Amino acid sequence: MTTNMAGNTIKRILALAAVLCMICLTGCAGSVTVSDPSSAAAPGESGEQRADSRAVFHFIDVGQGDSTLIEANGHYMLIDAGERDQTEAVTSYLKEQGVRNLDYVIGTHPHSDHIGGLEGVIREFEVANVILPQKEHTTRTYERLLDAIEDRNCKITIPKAGESYSLGAASFQIISPNRDYDDNLNNWSIGIRFVFGETSFVLCGDAEKEAEEDMLSGGLALNADVLKVSHHGSSTSSSPEFINAVSPRYAVISCGRNNDYGHPHKETLDLLKKQGIKVLRTDQLGTIVIESNGTDLQVMGQNDTSQGTSKQTEESLSGSEYIINTNTGKFHLTDCKLAESIKEENRRQFNGTRQELIDQGLKPCKSCNP
Ligand SMILES: [Zn+2]
Ligand SMILES: [Zn+2]
Repeated sequence: MTTNMAGNTIKRILALAAVLCMICLTGCAGSVTVSDPSSAAAPGESGEQRADSRAVFHFIDVGQGDSTLIEANGHYMLIDAGERDQTEAVTSYLKEQGVRNLDYVIGTHPHSDHIGGLEGVIREFEVANVILPQKEHTTRTYERLLDAIEDRNCKITIPKAGESYSLGAASFQIISPNRDYDDNLNNWSIGIRFVFGETSFVLCGDAEKEAEEDMLSGGLALNADVLKVSHHGSSTSSSPEFINAVSPRYAVISCGRNNDYGHPHKETLDLLKKQGIKVLRTDQLGTIVIESNGTDLQVMGQNDTSQGTSKQTEESLSGSEYIINTNTGKFHLTDCKLAESIKEENRRQFNGTRQELIDQGLKPCKSCNP
């Protein structure tokens, strides 16, 4: 790419942002509330939401890529939409969920596995606000996205770290990017910390260790119950310091089956395992849905039906209690008669899923058939 082309594109974004902003004042779909970043209590953090309200995260299976639909009190936002060939998968999923308007669409960064499907989404749904990083790209995919935004008179927002936005009774704060990352598009990823009641979620696109370091020194809250692991579980992201700061219960990895990059990388999986974080992967579970009622999380995964595999329930995902015999390498249900006779030094309690035990090379007991 030439500097001139890049310069033209950025000028185009800024011009679009200014013009569309004016158009929006006279009538744009949906209503958007941008709250004052300096206000201490974000709407979601006050615990004010009604008892029946909920926030639902849908980590949509788009193969090798990212796409997350978030719902809070009938308001919707979408973060990324996978490659262009996933457009139909994403738009039909949104329609199945009853989505017609999107308060926000975030294109985390201009890579095609994130923004490829966004053009179709913007053309098919009423989108109030498109949030993009201030980093241009000269690909046809990116140009198509800008065309769609222009054609549909959507507002473009270039966010700053520290700003907060509302979605129903929930809110999210921009935690990244914190500076100019030059040509490293991944580090330009828009990162957010989403808060609903006492529960929180962190999603940072493909942000790599450099950007994580800046988030750590930025001083904004990073702790969360759920982390969408950056860059599809690549080892270029997820420094131990960052994982420590987020300290999630669940780590969601969005990646394609047998992808060319070897995502997720072993280093990342090992780190998450060492910290006792439950890993949920779209390549294994299909679309993953996590619902928050403001205090508790419910995890549901649905295996891709085209793979002919069965639906997974929350129980099989979040796991249960097993007894391991470290001597024989077998695992048992807690009420198995054979488990009762295991010697104390060989007996280990395990809380997790059957698959995790199988992955560790352990065998199910033939008697209790766990
Ligand atoms: Zn990327
Ligand atoms: Zn990516």
